[in-house]
Amino acid sequence: MSNKSHEGWSVPAVDAVRVTPSTRVADLDRNGTPGFDGDKALGERLLEERGAHLSALQEKLYANGRATDENRSVLLILQGMDTAGKGGMVRNVIGHMDPQGVDHAAFGVPTEEEKRHHYLWRIRKALPRNGQVGVFDRSHYEDVLVVRVHNLVPPEQWEPRYDEINHFEKELVESGTTLIKVAMFVSLDEQKKRLAERLDRPDKYWKYNPGDVTERGYWPQYQQAYQDMLDRTSTEHAPWHVVPCDRKWYSRLAVTELLIDALERLDLHWPPADFDVEVEKARLAAS
Ligand code: AMP
Ligand code: MG
Repeated sequence: MSNKSHEGWSVPAVDAVRVTPSTRVADLDRNGTPGFDGDKALGERLLEERGAHLSALQEKLYANGRATDENRSVLLILQGMDTAGKGGMVRNVIGHMDPQGVDHAAFGVPTEEEKRHHYLWRIRKALPRNGQVGVFDRSHYEDVLVVRVHNLVPPEQWEPRYDEINHFEKELVESGTTLIKVAMFVSLDEQKKRLAERLDRPDKYWKYNPGDVTERGYWPQYQQAYQDMLDRTSTEHAPWHVVPCDRKWYSRLAVTELLIDALERLDLHWPPADFDVEVEKARLAAS
């Protein structure tokens, strides 16, 4: 398997999409396929092959979570504008994994109860348990994105959040959670096509929200808020990855590779038997 891991990639996905100090949101080619030279057909085939590998790695993480008290988990944070493909990422990438080992959470407009608490309250409640792969469809970053763009709280309140988030994430990493932060970027044109499709297809009406068109009017403000988010919260312990999303097959393959990389770096082993294998074989044979 490992000798095939870079098929199609001239630069490994983790390196190709990792944020650098010179990453400019405004200049990102959202139709690009950084690091990947193959076409859609190869991308789709690799997604299946690598998805199977991802599934095997996740089973090992889950097995370790069941067998030990050592806290190890992975948290994939998906941030992106509407139609970037967050839901499809969950279905097509996370869908390769055993649901028993997945902790999924989506964050929308805070409920009345959530509003009465600190913005990290609902986040802490949703963190992955030992052995789990957590997935956040939106996250605490909404509190420096939509909240900032719409002045939902004054700057004195959102400004300190960047440092607070860095601190929060550092603690998380130190407690055994590997963070994979993915900023998903769709172009304004592609977003228009995807919204139009939602309006053309009765099976997609449920995804359409009139507010999404309103948000398009704030595009430059959002791009700036994303830039500041990348600049201020991409850290050594929790770097951002910037994934172009106009080609869904690419974004899904890239995130599959990010997850595989994180799980492989955990260097997991199958938990040893906590019983005498030979004795159990003999007992079973005699039963
Ligand atoms: P969706 O992901 O399409 O279900 O939309 C969820 C909506 O909730 C988006 O418009 C987000 O911007 C919004 N949202 C998420 N978190 C917050 C927050 N902390 N404050 C205000 N709006 C939020
Ligand atoms: Mg939506």
